[in-house]
Amino acid sequence: MAERAAAPEGPLTGDLPEVLAERLAAMGEPPYRARQLFRAFHAEGRLDPQSITTLPAALRERLAQEAPPATTLKEAQEAADGTTKLLLGLADGRAVESVLIPENDRVTVCVSTQVGCPIRCIFCASGVRGLLRNLTPAEIVEPLIHARARLGKRPTHIVLMGMGEPLLNLDAVVQAIRIWTHPDGMGMSPRRITVSTALTPQRIDALAAADLGVNLAVSLHAPDDVTRAELVPGSPVGRVKALVEAAARFATTTRRDATVEYVLIDKLNDQPAHAEALADVLEGLPIHVNLIPFNPVSHRPDLAPPSGLAATGFARRLAERNVSVTLRTQRGEDIAAACGQLALERALGEDD
Ligand code: SAH
Repeated sequence: MAERAAAPEGPLTGDLPEVLAERLAAMGEPPYRARQLFRAFHAEGRLDPQSITTLPAALRERLAQEAPPATTLKEAQEAADGTTKLLLGLADGRAVESVLIPENDRVTVCVSTQVGCPIRCIFCASGVRGLLRNLTPAEIVEPLIHARARLGKRPTHIVLMGMGEPLLNLDAVVQAIRIWTHPDGMGMSPRRITVSTALTPQRIDALAAADLGVNLAVSLHAPDDVTRAELVPGSPVGRVKALVEAAARFATTTRRDATVEYVLIDKLNDQPAHAEALADVLEGLPIHVNLIPFNPVSHRPDLAPPSGLAATGFARRLAERNVSVTLRTQRGEDIAAACGQLALERALGEDD
């Protein structure tokens, strides 16, 4: 009797079709199985091998045993406004989260790239416990498969704004983007994908050089180096101007959107002088500003959202200086949908 072909070893959702074909060939399967599987995962949103009924029963059984998905849906919380947070369990017992944000005819999926985060922005729950580990390509990709299954249709946008710093896990992020944009899978346009970073000009230039066709968001949160050092204490000093210039370079060289994210926090960075200083830095550059009212987090009860008046006043000042600006409304507040919040609550709960 022929020896049984090698086990595929681990999840298959983080592989592009060519590698998938090699792994299935090692199991003694013909190349068209790889195309079937890639389509089932990424175009049809079938994560459980047992649900892929185009495959023979024996192969389904074998994949379920030997190549189970990297993530399992532990919890789904839906807010009154339709924002839905998925808590996904990983094979090592850790968890990451992903948020589905419906808005008119868009559905944006926010995905994580690391468990925890090494950048300790004072307002963000993700960094509280530091970085635990990088996510694998399969772990980054699968939230989109869960989202596809839950929505019954393809999400329209992807933002890498969940837990973690995407540019510190760039190889896995690039692999995930290649999978999402592959025409035989989900076929997502890279124009609908945004990579968000709080890192350095050098890393932004590296992302531009990777030529992925995605958009950039820079988590700036401050108009000057002193304020930024308070809000993003891990960031090197002297960064605001260089970061903004790198964002502008990104927009010019890639011809994609560059956005500055600015979480408005009561008194710390929401004053008229902050708005004027931000306009000074951004005036004339091809950069859009997203103002995001701070979403309260339990580890910093001393931080508060801006007053409605402060937030609208901040937006108006930028607009008056011809800076393109959007003031975001809070989404999913009742389900703690700010970055990292659910995973942190669960993790802290387990420690008690
Ligand atoms: N490390 C990357 C990706 C994480 S996304 C980065 O910093 O860009 C980070 C974004 O999550 C921030 O820019 C901010 O817009 C959002 N965020 C995190 N915590 C928040 C909070 N408490 N309230 C509102 N927005 C928050």
